[in-house]
Amino acid sequence: MNRMFSRTPGILIRPLIAALNPYAPGEQPKIKGLIKLNTNENPYPPSPKVLAAVKAAVDGRLRLYPHPTADRLRERLARLHRCKPGNIIVGNGSDELLAMAVRAFVEPVEDSPGTRRNRWRSARLSRAPSRSVVQYFTPSYSLYPVLADIHGAAKNAVALEPDFDLPDVARLTRAGIWDARAALTFVTTPNAPSGRGYATAELERLCRAQKGVVVLDEAYVDFAEEDAMRLALTFPHVLVARTFSKAYSLCFQRIGYFVGHPELIAALQKIRDSYNVNGLGQIAAEATLDDLPRYQANFRRIIATREKLSRQLEACGFRVWPSRTNFILARPPRFPAHTWLRRLRDRKILVRWFDQPGVKEYLRITIGTPAEAAALVRAVKSIAC
Ligand SMILES: *Cc1c(COP(=O)(O)O)cnc(C)c1O
Repeated sequence: MNRMFSRTPGILIRPLIAALNPYAPGEQPKIKGLIKLNTNENPYPPSPKVLAAVKAAVDGRLRLYPHPTADRLRERLARLHRCKPGNIIVGNGSDELLAMAVRAFVEPVEDSPGTRRNRWRSARLSRAPSRSVVQYFTPSYSLYPVLADIHGAAKNAVALEPDFDLPDVARLTRAGIWDARAALTFVTTPNAPSGRGYATAELERLCRAQKGVVVLDEAYVDFAEEDAMRLALTFPHVLVARTFSKAYSLCFQRIGYFVGHPELIAALQKIRDSYNVNGLGQIAAEATLDDLPRYQANFRRIIATREKLSRQLEACGFRVWPSRTNFILARPPRFPAHTWLRRLRDRKILVRWFDQPGVKEYLRITIGTPAEAAALVRAVKSIAC
């Protein structure tokens, strides 16, 4: 046999990819009767109008390519946010756009023998060139470091305050901990997994101090009291990321978008896959925008359930952080969090536990329906209350 064909495929893979720790998504089990409170999905189905619009579109048109830049949807979103379609790019979920931002704005660390990428992993920030730095807070969305690694960028992970508030970045900059010139800074606002909300004034201070691009990832903002959209429409270096997944019950359809300066948006459009947003997703998102009051009623329901569940868990000895999202971060009593994870699973309730410093003692619990919350409280009481 030709020696060529006896090669192990492993040597064909770039070392960076071979060493990569991929993103770990929450479990999507198929077990019947399981109450799924682990991935922040909305417990309420999409509006009947959305389902009807998607069903009506399933015909011979499936053979055609969808609109490459989702123009109808961008026009609708522009009206909603009082901006121009040129301020908006739609993605295959906001995750795709977060990855594109890394590709468009961050220079990979040079991979010549003198400047090995790995050196930056543990190197002091002062040695990593700012043009190659992806900066983010910890804890926040665990996808950001993976995107930086995939791109061969340097990472600067900076701890939030113990109560998950934003730190004073001016002080951290003077101390050489924060990089005001980082090519790209991600801020999850409201924060995940803590649920903490941030005042727009506080985010504005941070944006003003940054020289590079700032992405304000507002995946959960519909459950919060304030949003920072005006910052994306004021500052040329600020992008706001939104998604139809969580608040608009459309995880399955994969629709997210960025709002920002037309030049940044145009740069992202250049590197987009030709038909990145599937046609049924575009139709579902457009129909969603026709029925917003229905969703706003769902937000109010979820917020009411969140507040009631928080009080009930506190009465059972949990420490629950105030949340501005559709989930809560709660430290359970008596047993370690991962023991609770297992015992709840035994009772057919799935929540999320992160094996990460700062949040190891906590469970992240998605807010479900009132009936699901009641089942959780019953399970908690049967374990320890
Ligand atoms: C869920 C989530 C996303 C991704 O949303 P998609 O639009 O489904 O890709 C982005 N950021 C944060 C913080 C999230 O929790």
